[in-house]
Amino acid sequence: MAKKQFKAESKRLLDLMINSIYTHKEIFLRELISNASDATDKLYYNAMKEGKTGITRDSLPIELTLDKENRKFVIEDHGCGMTAEELESNLGTIARSGSLAFKKENENMDDVDIIGQFGVGFYAAFMVASHVEVVSRAAGSDEANRWESDGTAGYTVTPCEKAENGTKITLTIKENTESENYDEFLEPYRVQGLVKKYSDYIRYPIRMDMTRSRMKEKPADAGEDYKPEWEEYVENVTLNSMVPIWKKSKKELTDEDYNSFYTGKFYDYQPPLLHIHTSVEGAVTYTAMLFIPSHAPMDYYTKDFEKGLQLYSNGVLIMDKCADLLPDHFSFVRGMVDTADLSLNISREMLQHDRHLKAIAQSLEKKIKNELLKLRKDKREDYEKFWQAFGRQLKYGAYVQYGAHKELLQDLLMYHSSTEDKLVTLEEYVSRMKEEQKYIYYACGETVDKIKLLPAMETLRDKGYEVLCLDDNIDEFCIKMLANYKEKEFKSIADADLGLETEDEKEEIKKLSEENKALLEALGKALDGKVKTVELTGRLKSHPCCLRAEGPMTLEMEKVLNQQALDDSQRVHAERVLELNADHPIFRKLCQLQQEGSDQLATYADILYTQALLIEGMPVEDPVAYANAVCSLIS
Ligand code: ADP
Repeated sequence: MAKKQFKAESKRLLDLMINSIYTHKEIFLRELISNASDATDKLYYNAMKEGKTGITRDSLPIELTLDKENRKFVIEDHGCGMTAEELESNLGTIARSGSLAFKKENENMDDVDIIGQFGVGFYAAFMVASHVEVVSRAAGSDEANRWESDGTAGYTVTPCEKAENGTKITLTIKENTESENYDEFLEPYRVQGLVKKYSDYIRYPIRMDMTRSRMKEKPADAGEDYKPEWEEYVENVTLNSMVPIWKKSKKELTDEDYNSFYTGKFYDYQPPLLHIHTSVEGAVTYTAMLFIPSHAPMDYYTKDFEKGLQLYSNGVLIMDKCADLLPDHFSFVRGMVDTADLSLNISREMLQHDRHLKAIAQSLEKKIKNELLKLRKDKREDYEKFWQAFGRQLKYGAYVQYGAHKELLQDLLMYHSSTEDKLVTLEEYVSRMKEEQKYIYYACGETVDKIKLLPAMETLRDKGYEVLCLDDNIDEFCIKMLANYKEKEFKSIADADLGLETEDEKEEIKKLSEENKALLEALGKALDGKVKTVELTGRLKSHPCCLRAEGPMTLEMEKVLNQQALDDSQRVHAERVLELNADHPIFRKLCQLQQEGSDQLATYADILYTQALLIEGMPVEDPVAYANAVCSLIS
């Protein structure tokens, strides 16, 4: 019988598959099993419709047989089968599916990705097989047919015998080449692994004979010197677990079930802090099972970390780490999404996939946020654990893209507080604000303890105002991006105007500054190049002086950015202002020195400036000069 040619488009796709797609060749098994499952579904549902009894899913297994010697890989189902015409039209062409149209529109897309993620069905068999034989008998017919092909050369369809309805596909597995290993697909354990990976939730048993070994039973008359003997035996094993845990109802599942599923599936030794199991129906329909790990993976804060959720289409794994399902700020979430809205086939337009994925991603983002808020409310301790592990990611998320996600994330943020002995939320802070308090105050520093000792803290403490203590590099950047929360502006305690003084007090400072103009200018001159000006301030109590930054760059930002600078050209400098406390004895001493025209004034100015730097945790420009100056005073 003359060979029939594949339709032109099929031929091109076949070429593409066979020649360029190597990395994902293992997905051939997923594709064939999915087809077998679809065909079995058709038969099963028809039987149900016709009211046939006695048919169960268990009685319709998908059977795999490996014959290493003859390099045969057989997959057989008991589904609806195909007639000769169906073999022709289904396997002779794929033009129907529009796969190639898709391919054309996306010429520059990575081939590997398309195939790896969406598959091209039956043709995937040619990635691993040099010859494919499909023997099929349609349900309700007594005729069977054999479809055969060596790949691009074409195919034949001939009548044959088959005892039962269904389809039996026999692949002749390619010989190994220097670069490619095909033998693996004849290894039972490898095949078992692939079924687990891609087809674990197919709802029909996938069976295969596996050779196992066991200890022979000890004969009754065995003597003293009996040595145990091993024997091999063959067991027909069901490879898949069939029901995905996320398809079970929540009521059926215990915390223990979720935890052990999580630890097994994601190789984590600790149970998750939280599981989210949700089914959504409507514009998009999906089931998701998500987990918040209790600790960050080793590579979490590195470039190597890959975010993503497993994506299933009706129980079949399409993608192991679908990054599009998770925004960066929730990249720590693990889990899976199962949706019928996606097809395994690339025949559907990519756009459509995208739209669905996007809608699912948006819905998940909301869900994750709400569940985290709930966790914070109901299990504060667990939330704080979560915050320790992933808080940085949330702060970073609120900061990036010019604060595009700050509305979403601001209620999840937590900070140390000057008045509470625990992490507090912005909502809690605002709810405790004093009636006349205008701002949400914050202070930056290396540790909470050091921050609490900052000179400007005193005034706020006396007023009974709470101050957020920011001890993480990213904190101030994030807070500045937030700018305000519930219409309350954030205010650094290093700012010039903390909004604490009354008009009278401000007037008083202004008057004093006028009176001491000459002194302030003299000090400014002594510190020329180090500070922009020297000013009087009302926000100090027991401290003689402090530093303030002027302009958009704060001292904290200077510190953080310079730590990360690779060379001098990347270093930044915050404009400094030295603020003096006019009520402090030191100030009176300075006045006296100035009146006397003492040349010690410059030394004092330097010492005060350096001390202010030290208090802020800033590097001291010349420690030796500072030490010498202090020593000369002592002696
Ligand atoms: P898809 O399954 O994505 O439509 P395939 O190339 O995998 O594309 O298969 C083409 C068609 O061949 C299927 O739609 C189905 O009608 C038929 N088919 C494939 N495998 C089987 C099978 N095991 N039993 C019955 N029909 C099958």
